[in-house]
Amino acid sequence: MIIDTHAHITDVKFDSDRNAVIQRAFNAEIGRLIEISCEMYYWDRSLELLKQDNIFVSFGIHPIDVLKAVKNDYGKLESLICNEKCIAVGEVGLDYHYDSSKRNIDAQKESLGIQFNLAKKYNKPVIIHCRDAYDDMLTFLKKQTNVPKGVIHCFSGNLSQAKIFVELGFCLGIDGPVTYKKSDSLKEVVKNIEISKLLVETDCPYLTPQKHRGKRNEPAYIVEILKEIANIKGMDLEIVEKVTTQNALDLFEGIK
Ligand SMILES: [Zn+2]
Repeated sequence: MIIDTHAHITDVKFDSDRNAVIQRAFNAEIGRLIEISCEMYYWDRSLELLKQDNIFVSFGIHPIDVLKAVKNDYGKLESLICNEKCIAVGEVGLDYHYDSSKRNIDAQKESLGIQFNLAKKYNKPVIIHCRDAYDDMLTFLKKQTNVPKGVIHCFSGNLSQAKIFVELGFCLGIDGPVTYKKSDSLKEVVKNIEISKLLVETDCPYLTPQKHRGKRNEPAYIVEILKEIANIKGMDLEIVEKVTTQNALDLFEGIK
């Protein structure tokens, strides 16, 4: 069994064939799907999706969306986190990639703190989005008392940053970019970080693996990420599949 630990199935890009995409995933040995619902606009759609077996969800407010969030949204988020099929909080984090978001650093940090407290209150792991902000994220995490368990989603930092996140207890999410020829730094991270700390995720409909590049990404393509990890680490594909699935089951206890 494979677990896609990070998909955005409620995205409009799946509106025309969502059920076929889900079926292809389950036909491709994917036993569990984790839907990441981090835009307030999509929360209700995600609740609808949860009616299907083997689909779980993580609710959160994405750093890019924090200025749109009002106090009531955090109240709603708290009630969503209590849903028994909500197995994590996120993606939450820091995103300094765009100029507009760079100007909202304080708001991003405040929202991150609020959502970390919710994760701790309900004992759920966090799914962290971090873009061009690894040093600030590490500073934030080091200041936390009882850092929750979690994953650095779509890790794109360097090896020394990777090692610090792992020391803090985090897993690293590995996505389609690991299959790109130019991803030397990410390949080095995958090579040097213990496999017990790696999770596979598609982040579909984004980040399509090399083999299908140019097309919309979907969970069934996750095998390309597993193959590349096996290749980089010189391990059997079956072992990589087995260990990364166990890592996901251990981190997201609610999906067992
Ligand atoms: Zn995502």
